Parts: sequence; C-alpha cells; structure tokens
Amino acid sequence: MSKKVLVLGEAREGALRNVSFEAIAAAKQVSGGGEVVGVLIGDSVQDLAQELSQYGADRVITVEHPHLKTYTSDGFGQAFMAVVEQENPEGMVFAHTANGKDLAPKIASKLQSGLVSDVTAIEGEGDDAEFIRPIYSGKAFEKVRVKDGIAFLTIRPNNIPPLEKGEGGGDVSSLSVDITNLRTIIQDVVRKSTDGVDLSEAKVIVAGGRGVKSAEGFEPLKELADLLGGAIGASRGACDADYVDYSLQIGQTGKVVTPDLYIAAGISGAIQHLAGMSNSKVIVAINKDPEANIFKVADYGIVGDLFEVVPMLTEEFRKM
Ligand code: FAD
Repeated sequence: MSKKVLVLGEAREGALRNVSFEAIAAAKQVSGGGEVVGVLIGDSVQDLAQELSQYGADRVITVEHPHLKTYTSDGFGQAFMAVVEQENPEGMVFAHTANGKDLAPKIASKLQSGLVSDVTAIEGEGDDAEFIRPIYSGKAFEKVRVKDGIAFLTIRPNNIPPLEKGEGGGDVSSLSVDITNLRTIIQDVVRKSTDGVDLSEAKVIVAGGRGVKSAEGFEPLKELADLLGGAIGASRGACDADYVDYSLQIGQTGKVVTPDLYIAAGISGAIQHLAGMSNSKVIVAINKDPEANIFKVADYGIVGDLFEVVPMLTEEFRKM
C-alpha cells in the first residue's frame, strides 16, 4: 500500500541542512509511490520551503511564528502535531540530529506509535521497506520492518543519498497554528565561534585524541582538516583533557558522524568512541601503538608518531 509520509526539514542559520534532502529521499522509499509532504517550521521559511520542494517533496507545508525562530521541544511539538492532525500521515521521517532525536519520540509517544531510530539504510519500499540500524554501539546491525501503524523513522545524516534537485517543485502552503502556553521562549542564541564546517555533516573529519597531548598539538590536525575542506573532531579523552571543546566530541555520548573520510590521530579506539564513527566510509588511523583497537575498524592503519605522520599527509595532499 502506498503511504502519505511527512518529513520534517531542518534549517540552520538560514540554510537547509543536507539531511533534510536525505530525509525526503528516505520518505520517497517509505511512501512506496505515495505522497511525500515536507514540513518546515520556523519564523520565516518560505524560500527554504521552495528549495525543499525541489528535492522530491510533492508538497511542503510551512508553520511560521515568531516563537518558532529557534527550536524548542514545546513549540515545534505543537506546530508539528497540528500538521499531523491536518494530514493524518501513514509515515514520518525525521533527521537523527539533536532536534530530531528530541522531537520524534515526543510525537511518537503522543500518537502511541513505535519509532525506528537512527536508520542508516532502507531496503525495499512501501509496506515491504526494511530499515537497517546499528545496535550495541555499532557492533551489529538489525533489520526492522514496521508491520502495523505508522512507519516512523529518524535517519542518520550522511547515509541515505538525496535525490537530484529538480527544476520545478511541489506546492508550498502555510498552516496557521496558535502556539500557546510555551514553557520556554528563546530570545537570543549566542553561538560559540566555530571553524565553519558543521561536524555532523562534514565529508572529511580529522579527529584527535589524548595522544595529541595539548591544545597546540591540534594545530597540525586543523591544518590538514582545512586543506581537505573538513572539520576537526575529538575523542572524549582529548575533551576531558581540555585540548578542545566538548562540542567536538565524537562517540556514544558525543556526536555520531559518517563522513567519507575519518582520520583518527592518537585515538585508542575505545568502544564508546567507535560508536560515533565506525560507520565512516573510509577510516584512516594513526597511532604509535600497533595493538591499538582503532586499527580493528580502520581501512588504512599507519603505525607511527602523529606529529610526524600528520604533517607528512598534509604535505602530500597539498601536492595534489
Ligand atoms: P587514550 O585511550 O588514552 O588513547 C590515546 C592513544 O594515543 C593511545 O592509543 C596511544 O597509543 C596514542 N598515542 C599517544 N601518543 C601518540 C603519538 N605521538 N602518535 C600517535 N599515537 C599516539 N570516548 C569518546 O571518545 N567518545 C564518547 O562519546 C565517549 N563516551 C563515553 C561514555 C561512557 C559512559 C564512558 C564510560 C566512556 C566514554 N568515552 C567516550 C571514553 C572512552 O572510554 C575512552 O576513555 C576515550 O575514548 C579515550 O580517548 P583517547 O582514545 O583519546 O585516549
């Protein structure tokens, strides 16, 4: 049976996040030829709605309100539930991001629905769709099928390829929702300055661990990341030692990333770190201990001192 599937698009600093397009592609598969309806919630999102509709959504519904400028569980919950009540969907797709991980279970519990979270691939379509997701911190994968009720998913960024951008686009309409009784209204967000590339969507990540030994030790890693147009990441060991900010932590209690290239320098490869990066497409590990656990998940392992190896890699990449 074909389904009507709602997809929550996500924007950051005035631009749609790539995972929104990936979520539309996932929804197409889940819909099995049915209708894919994008949902954009914010303060002023008409232009973004047009863009979202060009990536395969049949329609896009916007909910705009000054109190929805910044994500809050309460505000976005009210807005999204209003769309659900209007549309009565048979499927829903969210991004497995901080916002999606917060909102999807909330909506699922309101609807008394199950939720398949952190999906990395989908096989088949419509009622036959099977969802693949990592379990036990990425040590194994399970295949899940929704037999009854709403096909409700969160998808991990950087795993499901988006559709090509089309020429036209589906209809964009607005739903007016009275956002009331909010427990929090965010007045202003002051962001810590970062070096540009969003870690959770970066195609290349150069990550350092306790082996980097100091905040200054991260400089050669930053140079390599900049050269490759990538982002810096870190193990919790490096964050605990105050070499870098916790916002860069990758792993079970940090960010989950799936870049095309993950370079791990001076990281031992504890299971909690692997949980956040082992699905990266190509993993290069640099460690002076040949027995380090990180080599078990690495596609390429370099046994050596990172302070020699990283500058050598930078030099070689510069020649390309
Ligand atoms: P270490 O284990 O100390 O490894 C340092 C490595 O650097 C060693 O392998 C060493 O051989 C190598 N090295 C040293 N000098 C050099 C050099 N000059 N050149 C090359 N290599 C060198 N960790 C995370 O990363 N992310 C998480 O989200 C996370 N969540 C956790 C949640 C819980 C509940 C718990 C209990 C732990 C969690 N941890 C997490 C911590 C995790 O268990 C490890 O302690 C941590 O990942 C170790 O960081 P590390 O690999 O940088 O340090």
